[in-house]
Amino acid sequence: MRQFAVIGSGPAGFYTAEALSKTYGDGARVDILDRLPVPYGLIRFGVAPDHQSIKAVAKRYEKVALEPSVRFLGNVHLGADVSVEELLHYFDAVVLATGAPNDRRLGIPGDDLPGVIGSAAFVGWYNGHPDFADLRPPLDVEGAAVIGNGNVALDVARILAKTNDEFSGSDIVDHALRTLTGSSVRTITVLGRRGPHQIAMTPKELGELGHLQAAAPLVDPIDLPPPEADGMLEPGQRKSVAHLRHFAATPPDKAKPKRIAFDFFAKPLVIEGDGRAERVIVERTALAADGNARGTGETYVVEAGLVVSCIGYASPPMPGVPYDEKLGRFPNEGGRIAERLYAVGWARRGPTGTIGTNRPDGQEVAERIAALFPPAGAPSGREGSAGLDRLLASRGSDPVRFADWQKIEAAEVAAARAGAPREKLVRVEELLRARRH
Ligand code: NAP
Repeated sequence: MRQFAVIGSGPAGFYTAEALSKTYGDGARVDILDRLPVPYGLIRFGVAPDHQSIKAVAKRYEKVALEPSVRFLGNVHLGADVSVEELLHYFDAVVLATGAPNDRRLGIPGDDLPGVIGSAAFVGWYNGHPDFADLRPPLDVEGAAVIGNGNVALDVARILAKTNDEFSGSDIVDHALRTLTGSSVRTITVLGRRGPHQIAMTPKELGELGHLQAAAPLVDPIDLPPPEADGMLEPGQRKSVAHLRHFAATPPDKAKPKRIAFDFFAKPLVIEGDGRAERVIVERTALAADGNARGTGETYVVEAGLVVSCIGYASPPMPGVPYDEKLGRFPNEGGRIAERLYAVGWARRGPTGTIGTNRPDGQEVAERIAALFPPAGAPSGREGSAGLDRLLASRGSDPVRFADWQKIEAAEVAAARAGAPREKLVRVEELLRARRH
């Protein structure tokens, strides 16, 4: 019997557990650990609450968790409850699937003012992540700025723009729904430091902005390259740019009180305000020959009492694991960090790609592990789960098992608003209490 530990129960963790379980069948045990009492990581806390069809992939992960050879252990803190070194002692291989939960800092003056929020925190807040339950983003303002031209910027702009009705069928948490319903935000300015051809937004997500009940997207035609230049783009990007062209050509519906204004060639220089964010000083840019944004020296002001920076994420360092400060992740070769220690997903590649991108990642690492420990080979002699359980018990750690999660899930489903799939429990104490029912 082989013993494997996967740290993190998001998509990367589950695809790895699935691949290991398929490769070894009954010949291996896989423990999936998570610091939170609930599984699914990015699916629960990252994917937008109004994108339920994407969240449906959790059903596939559930099947993996219910395999007899797989265990879920939530509420286990790496570092406090158990170290990577200890896991390597008990398990044949340890796979870090810890994602990239930290916001990259903007690194401009004023980025620490109240009202300036990273997307991990803002998204975590509306998705009921326990770490951000008390965020209280200031929505008592007319202007909000969203920095970045990726899909997260689109999620944030859309959530800020939606009406109460438009959240029906979503699992947005009650505290966020109430705050958003009372929001005074009317103008959401999406700041991109480069141009329409350089956006990192996918067509489906961008197209959604054209169908919002109370908000109209605005694109200044002057920012668009000549239409013939779109021919150089790959097909997906061409479709995204077509949406921008459509927005630019459509006069904003006067009946809609909110605007999502795309400011391209717009680089935030400073965030100013008296004790809280009030405005962003933006420098106009031009594209340099190397494709980067070059400042022109010309500036203008965007009034914004809420600034959400959506400029990418980093994996936090972990004691005992090599860490690349510049890349914000664990250095690795094809997923291998060190002897018997691997990384998958955003911890391996950085914060790019879709949920499906994690599948080949998990498979590749499972193949590498299988090459080191052939499934038909001799048993390892490592204690695996039994050793881990003993260690956790000796430290007073209180793991949440998958059957516990199923009780939490049942409580969340029972508490759902009409039409919603669930009402998430947000505090760790509440989650731990719910498993006792
Ligand atoms: P992303 O796609 O890497 O986009 C980051 C954006 O931030 C880019 O436009 C980048 O501009 C900009 N940026 C970076 N540093 C900046 C700075 N200092 N100042 C101003 N702008 C800056 O990252 P993301 O939006 O966080 O998304 C992460 C991954 O999750 C992506 O693969 C995304 O597609 C995926 N995702 C998918 C969905 C979905 O499919 N529905 C939803 C959410 C996220 P430059 O290009 O100029 O660097």
